[in-house]
Amino acid sequence: MIFADLHTHSSFSSDSDEPLRAMAETAVEKGLKTLCFTEHQDFDYPQAGEFMLDVPAYRAEYLKARDEFAGKIELLFGVELGLLSYMPDTLRKFAKSAEFDFIIGSLHQIDGLDPYYPEYFEKMGGKNGVARFFEEMLASVKAFDDYDVLGHFDYIVRYSPERGYSPLDFREVTDEILKTVIAGGKGIEINSKGVKSLGYPHPHPFVLERYKELGGEIITIGSDAHNKDGIADDFDRAEQALKNAGFEYYAVFRERMPWFERV
Ligand SMILES: [Zn+2]
Ligand SMILES: [Zn+2]
Repeated sequence: MIFADLHTHSSFSSDSDEPLRAMAETAVEKGLKTLCFTEHQDFDYPQAGEFMLDVPAYRAEYLKARDEFAGKIELLFGVELGLLSYMPDTLRKFAKSAEFDFIIGSLHQIDGLDPYYPEYFEKMGGKNGVARFFEEMLASVKAFDDYDVLGHFDYIVRYSPERGYSPLDFREVTDEILKTVIAGGKGIEINSKGVKSLGYPHPHPFVLERYKELGGEIITIGSDAHNKDGIADDFDRAEQALKNAGFEYYAVFRERMPWFERV
């Protein structure tokens, strides 16, 4: 069983309205032992000011909740930091700016566009849009390495016209990304949000197998919940994906160090 959700958003993220405390309460009800908040911070986002995290306010609220919920659940202080290959110094400075337990590095913008919006694929085309995403992801992990796991590896295909992809078509670049992640001592996550739209959690089982074959060991599990109902959603499927790829452990990060839990 998986008892730790390491990817969640409360109202400190621009795209969530859920109070942090309500997230913690629900995580207790769902029987989790650990919940990590990973609020959004995206520099240089196309809509200026969106996804800028108020770290001091978030930290203060987190510390209150951590004490209040002590003995019921372990709450961790994380961030989902938007990767940008062209401003690694800004990202480095941010990563050091607070006592984060955990940093997910996620690519949310490519060439000034957020692939969540249709404009991205209209402009790039289906296959090319996916290829460009992976190229930018590779450039990002080569430029910046102060993250712990690479977030939702192939989430972009949720928004592609084909709603999915053939991972073999992109193997060269995705292998390069995985090798860079592994060589840097970083991990990836299984993000269960993919199940509802694609039928499998991110990343595609093929990518997870390649990660294992290339020597990857660190995997965190996250729901990417933006409200309390989404916490630990489809974790049975995430567990299945983990085991199918031959992993027996998942990781929980505390003070930026991985601890391994047997699944
Ligand atoms: Zn994300
Ligand atoms: Zn997220």
